[in-house]
Amino acid sequence: MTFKRTRCPHCKGKLEGAQRIHPHCIDAYADAQAAKADRARARAARMAAKVEKAETRKRREALKRIPDLIKEAQTAFNAWVRARDAAQPCISCDSPPPDLSQLHAGRDAGHYRSTGSASHLRFHPDNCHAQCVKCNKWGAGRAVDYRIRLVRRIGLERVEALENENVTHKWQRTELTEIRDTYRAKTKELKRGKP
Ligand SMILES: [Zn+2]
Ligand SMILES: [Zn+2]
Repeated sequence: MTFKRTRCPHCKGKLEGAQRIHPHCIDAYADAQAAKADRARARAARMAAKVEKAETRKRREALKRIPDLIKEAQTAFNAWVRARDAAQPCISCDSPPPDLSQLHAGRDAGHYRSTGSASHLRFHPDNCHAQCVKCNKWGAGRAVDYRIRLVRRIGLERVEALENENVTHKWQRTELTEIRDTYRAKTKELKRGKP
């Protein structure tokens, strides 16, 4: 089926007689069509790359073992603890934060009850606080000092709640990825809030 075209597809100007395009518009029209096709191809390629990337990510995520996911979630959680406590002194020796502009300078996220013996509390915000690297290395040796300041910071009731919480927990994949992603987002938010 043919139709009578009255407007030039390129410049939208009026056509004469049986013209389907102005002769002087042919080249420009062809160029414009080619450019349009190029853009469409590029867009399709970008979409395909995006889908591919998401699938690769999904496959990689599926291959991760629970210990890998615990590690990733712990890294994210600890980074958040350091950001949360950026203005706080060390939880076990009271030395001031190194430099407020450098959130992570020289500090660890130190657990009150260790991740080894109390894995169920490894992501508990009350159980983890910014600590000098030195104090963190002392480990159990600094536990008494840690407790004194922990009581000061969160109150005896919450410290005792931590001490009495002994129901072990088997971390699941979905929990771990959720913890990881949540704390990554929370850290970003905290840092955005800082001048
Ligand atoms: Zn034209
Ligand atoms: Zn310290």
